[in-house]
Amino acid sequence: MAVKQTATLVAAICCVVASLGVSDTILLAQEREWGADRSIVQISPSVYRWGSDGQYGAYIVGGDAIAVVDGHYCPSGTVQWLKEELAKRHDVPVKYMILSHDHPDHICNSQLFDDTAVTIGHKNILPHILREKRQSSVPDITFEESIDVMLGGVTVTLLYFGPTHSDNLIVMHIPDEKVLIGIDIARGKSLFPDYRDMDVHSTLKVLKTLEQLPDSDIVLPGHGPMLDHENFAQQRRYIQALRDEVLDHIVAGDSLQQIRDTVTMDEFSDYRMFDQFLDSNIVTMWGYLYRYREPNQRITDVEAVECREDVTRCRTSDPLY
Ligand SMILES: [Zn+2]
Repeated sequence: MAVKQTATLVAAICCVVASLGVSDTILLAQEREWGADRSIVQISPSVYRWGSDGQYGAYIVGGDAIAVVDGHYCPSGTVQWLKEELAKRHDVPVKYMILSHDHPDHICNSQLFDDTAVTIGHKNILPHILREKRQSSVPDITFEESIDVMLGGVTVTLLYFGPTHSDNLIVMHIPDEKVLIGIDIARGKSLFPDYRDMDVHSTLKVLKTLEQLPDSDIVLPGHGPMLDHENFAQQRRYIQALRDEVLDHIVAGDSLQQIRDTVTMDEFSDYRMFDQFLDSNIVTMWGYLYRYREPNQRITDVEAVECREDVTRCRTSDPLY
């Protein structure tokens, strides 16, 4: 096994807001009382869901080993608690730590299992963990498209379909038990806070793939209650509609501010965190699409540099962005 490295935390921001009201946001995330409602729930013969504070990982128990999926929020203390619970509840050791993606709120303190576990993640996760000095285990094994983890009679298939919510997010499939673990890609009617490290077009394709993935009746998200297979279509419909509407306005020559003032997405107003996240969704979708298209009226090299140095001079931008 390769020598592991443990880094220090920079910040746990990403998906904290996904499980809180906006009035709670980041400041309260630092002040809140952590470790609330710690739980372990058996989902299927071999799969368990664990977590606290509205955020969840999973673990899978086979005949001779346990595979844990993810760490947790850095300050929650829930990974240490999980380690103690696993020792009490099961006779087999934790041999694998699987990292769903590099975001700190999902992998923090995963290194607490380094004493017994080999850590696995997508090959793209490594530079993020090292660059950002995540407080996390560092993968010993990486893969590109898929890898099977054998747990003495139970097979866990790790799948990567392309860049989505990050460039390294994977899903974990236990087809014999019809369970799919989709941390931060299984969202249902819950909006992402924004799209800052998302490849929007690839995400739309991957959500379509996940909609059609067989043997995945039970879907475990990273936040909130369990979901069913329909969740991927719910999320895809929203992202597709937002992408199409924002792009139409850009092509029509509207400024970002005009788009923020105009796009209402009313038909999705029942989605969770809609009022809080719609504007940040529009702004970051605009940023993605600005880089996606080339207008007929060519932007000169000088204009592009001026735009980069001073966004108020971007032809399609506005002073508020
Ligand atoms: Zn995330």
